[in-house]
Amino acid sequence: MISNQELANIIFPDVKETIEDLEKRYPARNLKEGAEVTRFAPSPTGFLHTGSLFTSLICRKVATQSGGIFYVRLEDTDTKREIQGSGEQLLSQLKVFDIVPDEGYLGNSEKGNYGPYVQSKRADIYRVAIKCLIEQGRAYPCFCSQAELDDIRSKQEKMKLIPGYYGQFAKCRFLTNDERAARIQAGEPYVIRFKSNGNHIRKIKVTDLVHGNFEIAQNDQDIVIYKSDGLPTYHFAHCVDDHFMRTTTVIRGEEWISSLPIHVELFEAMGWKTPNYAHLPVIMKLDEKGNKRKLSKRLDSEAAVSYFLEDGYPAEALIMYLMTIANSNFEEWIFAHKFEHMEEFEFSFSKMSLEGALFDIGKLNFFAREILAKKNKKEICDMALTYAKAYNPELLALIERDPEFFGEIMNIEREKENPRKDYEKFGNLPELIGFFYKDKYDELVKEPLPFNEKFSKETIIEMLEALRDGLSLDADEQGWFANMKEIAVNHGFAANGKEFKANPEAFKGTVGDVAEMLRISLTSKKNSPNLYYVMKVLKKEECDRRINKVISLLK
Ligand code: GLU
Repeated sequence: MISNQELANIIFPDVKETIEDLEKRYPARNLKEGAEVTRFAPSPTGFLHTGSLFTSLICRKVATQSGGIFYVRLEDTDTKREIQGSGEQLLSQLKVFDIVPDEGYLGNSEKGNYGPYVQSKRADIYRVAIKCLIEQGRAYPCFCSQAELDDIRSKQEKMKLIPGYYGQFAKCRFLTNDERAARIQAGEPYVIRFKSNGNHIRKIKVTDLVHGNFEIAQNDQDIVIYKSDGLPTYHFAHCVDDHFMRTTTVIRGEEWISSLPIHVELFEAMGWKTPNYAHLPVIMKLDEKGNKRKLSKRLDSEAAVSYFLEDGYPAEALIMYLMTIANSNFEEWIFAHKFEHMEEFEFSFSKMSLEGALFDIGKLNFFAREILAKKNKKEICDMALTYAKAYNPELLALIERDPEFFGEIMNIEREKENPRKDYEKFGNLPELIGFFYKDKYDELVKEPLPFNEKFSKETIIEMLEALRDGLSLDADEQGWFANMKEIAVNHGFAANGKEFKANPEAFKGTVGDVAEMLRISLTSKKNSPNLYYVMKVLKKEECDRRINKVISLLK
C-alpha cells in the first residue's frame, strides 16, 4: 500500500525543500516588541478601489505607529482575472496618497528579504507546504470533473443541503492512495484539496481587533488549495505568505470574515500561529431610495480612487476624510489641530465603528476646501498645473495662456489669516474661473444674466453706468465698498442706515443689490470670489468693457 509520504513524492517529485528549510530562509523578523507587520495584498484585477485605499491607509498607519513594517504583496494566482499593468497602477496610485510600503512589491521592482512578493513567483514555496500537507494526510488529489461537481451541487440543492465539496460529498477523499497514484500515473488531470476536519455545526471562537470576540461556524469544506495550473488558490497562498512573510496583523475588508474559518483551519493544519485579524468596515453609500449599500465598482464612480484624482481632489483631503471613517475621534482632533499634521494622530482599532461608514462627499469637500485654502500662491499653482497636465487639457490651456494671470486669480484672498475657501478640487476650475478670461466671459454673457427681476432694466443700466464712472479701484476694500455705497445712495437707489429705518419703501434696494448687479455684470454669475479682488485682477479697463457690454445687451 502506498503511504502518504510516497504519494507526496509521486505528486511533487522535484520538491526537495522542507518547511524547516523555509523557516530558516524566512526567519522571524528582528523588530522591537509590539512592532506590527502589516500587508496590503491586492489582486491585479483592476483599479484601486476606495475601500482598498482605506485598507492600505490603515495598514501603513498601524505599521508606522508601532515601529513595524508595511509591505505590499501582489496576489495574482487567479491568472484568468488578471488585468495587465494593474499591479503597477495600484502602486503608483498609492504613492499619490503618500502610502509607500517599506518593502514588498513596488510596481516594477521589489524590495525586502521575505520575497518574492508576487504570488505567481512563489510556486516552489507553496509546493513545499502542500507536499507537507499531503504527507500528513491533510491534503489529497481530486479528480472530479466539472460535470461531477455540478452533479454533486444539484443533489445538494435537491436535498436542501449546504453546497460544496465536504463530508460524504467529497468523493475523492475516499480513494485509497493506490487508486490516487494509479490515476495520476495514468495522466488524469487533478487538483489538490485540503482535507477539513471541521463540522459546520460546531463553532470556533475568533478574536478580531475591530469586531472583538465572536463565534463562527467551523469550516468543513475540502477547498481546492492547488490548481491544475500549478498555482495555489488565494486561501492557501495567503496563509503560507502571511506565515513566511511574518505578518503579525492581517488588515483587510469585512467581506473576508466569512472565509476566516477556512483560514484558521489552514493555519492550524500547518501548525502555525494565526496572525491577528482586523476586518475593516465596508464603505457604504445611500442609494436613490435611501437604503445603505456597499460602494459598487459598477454603479458608483466614487468607488474608484481614480475618480478623485481625475476630478482633481487634493490627495490629502481624501486621506483625511478616510481617517474620519477610521476613527470616530479623528474629526475633533483634526479640527483642534487646524487640519495639519494628521500623521501625529494616534489610530486605534477600538475606535473604529462597526457599521459600514457612509461615503459623504460633502465632508470630503469640506476637508478639501480647508486644505486648498492653506496652500500659498505657488503651491496652489503648482498643484493645479500638475493636475491639469495629467488630467485636464482645458485647464492646462487656461494656465498656459498666462501663468501670471492664473496665479493672480488663484491668489485672491489667499496667504492671509482667514483665507477664502473657494476651491475644493481642480476639476471644476475652468467652470469657476473661466469668466476671468475675456473670450470665455464673452461666451458666458451670451446666455441671459441672472439679474434680480425686481429691478427694471433701466435701473440696472443707471446703476451700472454710475459704477463704471464713479467706482474707483485705487482704494482698499473698505474704501471701495464705501464708494459703492455712496454711489447707490446718491442715485436714490439705497439709503444710508437712518433714512432706511424711517422710510424703507422709499428705496429700490440696498448696496448689496448694487454689488450683485456689478458681480453679475463682471462675472456672469451670482457667486464668485471676492468682487473687489476680482475687479483688481480684471483691472479697470476690462471692468468698464464688461459693464458697457452688459449695458448694450440690456438695451
Ligand atoms: N487578494 C485579496 C484581495 O484582493 C486580499 C485579501 C487579504 O487581504 O487577505 O482582496
